[in-house]
Amino acid sequence: MTSQTSSDCLFCKIVAGEIPGDRVAESERSIAFRDIKPAAPVHVLVVPRRHEPTVGALAAASDVDLADVFRLAAQVADQEGVPDAYRMIVNTGSAAGQTVFHAHVHVLAGVAFTEGRM
Ligand code: C5P
Repeated sequence: MTSQTSSDCLFCKIVAGEIPGDRVAESERSIAFRDIKPAAPVHVLVVPRRHEPTVGALAAASDVDLADVFRLAAQVADQEGVPDAYRMIVNTGSAAGQTVFHAHVHVLAGVAFTEGRM
């Protein structure tokens, strides 16, 4: 195990295939899998293979990994048939709703997003 993985991290275990995840896409640097508790008809999580606790930490650690997460998120939206109708959410910190401390982006689609609401 390298310093870029964390032995007690759920998403590192999904990346490694030790815990099943419903994968929909992957790249050399990131994977995408369906959220186990979907909040919308399309709800996919895109996570870097590299372990960083937050998207901010990922941005500080690696421009390449950060860009790859967003590139794969756009690819997922294409695959899901919603290239122009999806929302990406990043929760940072438990006060903002982050429950898994491995950087990830939620890709959500298939609901009517109310204009102006977060
Ligand atoms: O942004 P936040 O940290 O709250 O998101 C974590 C997400 O990971 C949740 O939406 C949760 O449903 C999802 N999850 C999952 N598979 C697991 C554990 C959590 O898809 N085994």
